[in-house]
Amino acid sequence: MAHIIDGKTAAQTLRTQITQQVAALHSPGISPGLAMVLVGEDPASASYVHSKARQTEECGMQAFEHKLPQSTTQQQLLRLIEQLNGDARVHGILVQLPLPDHIDAVAVLSRIAPDKDVDGLHPVNTARLADGNPNIVPCTPLGCLVLLRNELGDLSGKQALVIGRSHLVGRPMSHLLLSQHCTVTTAHSRSQNLAELCRQADILVVAAGQPELVRGSWIKPGATLIDVGINRQHGEDGKTALVGDVAFREAVEVAGAITPVPGGVGPMTIACLLLNTLLAALRQQGMSAPEWAVLAH
Ligand code: NDP
Repeated sequence: MAHIIDGKTAAQTLRTQITQQVAALHSPGISPGLAMVLVGEDPASASYVHSKARQTEECGMQAFEHKLPQSTTQQQLLRLIEQLNGDARVHGILVQLPLPDHIDAVAVLSRIAPDKDVDGLHPVNTARLADGNPNIVPCTPLGCLVLLRNELGDLSGKQALVIGRSHLVGRPMSHLLLSQHCTVTTAHSRSQNLAELCRQADILVVAAGQPELVRGSWIKPGATLIDVGINRQHGEDGKTALVGDVAFREAVEVAGAITPVPGGVGPMTIACLLLNTLLAALRQQGMSAPEWAVLAH
C-alpha cells in the first residue's frame, strides 16, 4: 500500500516557514507585498483571488487586490501593470487567468517586470528555467518538486515521466526535474505507448486533465506518483466529485507513494505563490533566500 503524500500538511509547514521569515523582515522595515489583478466577474476566479489574498495576509504579507470590470481594455490593463511594476510596496504581481477573450494574455504577462512575476510565466523566467538557471518558477510545478523532495530527498538519477507539456505545468515540471538531475521523459497527447513509458518511471507527474488516465497496471511497483489533475465527475447520485488523472484506488496498491486528489498538489500551489512572493521581495532588497527555500530553486 502506497504512502499517501499529505499536501495540506506540507503546505502548512511551508506557510509557517514563510510566516516566520516575513516576521523577521519586519524589523528591518520590509513588508513583502503581492498585487492580484482580476478582470471580470467569473466566480471561480474571484474565489481563487480571495483565497490567495487571505493566505497572503495570514503570512504577514500585504495583499493588494485590483478588481477590474469585464469591459477593461488591454491598454487599461497594461497601464495598471506598469503602475504596479513601479510601485515599491509591490514585490509580486499576479494576473488571474483566464483573461477575457479580447485581451492578449501573453502580451499582459510579458509586461510584468520579470523580478515581480510570481507566477513565473514571463518569457524571461521560462527561458531561465529552460536554461537551467531558474529565477522565479511557476507555482504548481514548484509545489510538486517540494513534495517530491520531501518524499524522496535527492532525485538525482531517477527515471521521471511527466505527462503533459503545458506552459503552466508540464513543461516547467520537466525542466525542474532535469535541474534535479533526473532522466526526464515528457509525454503528451501524441505520445505512443504511454502505459509502457509509465512502467519505466520511478517518478510520475501527471498533468493531462484526463480523469483516471493512468491505470494501476501502468505503474512501476514502488514508484512515486504526483497527480496534478483536477477533474469534476458527476456521480449517479447527482453529486460532483473531484478526481485526478490517476486511478487512485488502483494506483495506491502498486505505488510507493501517491498524492490524493483533493489534498495533494492543490494546497501546495498557493503556498508556493507565497514562497515566490517572499523570495521576490528578498531578491529585490538584495537579500539571499533562506536555507530551507534554496533547494526549491
Ligand atoms: P492543459 O490542457 O493546458 O495541458 C494538458 C496537457 O496534457 C497537454 O500537454 C496535452 O497534450 C496532454 N494530454 C492531454 N491528454 C493526454 C493524453 N490522453 N495522453 C497524454 N497526454 C495528454 O492543462 P494544464 O497543464 O493547465 O493542467 C493539467 C491538469 O492539471 C488539469 O486537470 C488542471 O485542472 C490541473 N491543474 C491543477 C493545478 C493544481 O493546483 N493542482 C494547477 C494547474 C492545473 P498536447 O500538448 O499534445 O495537447
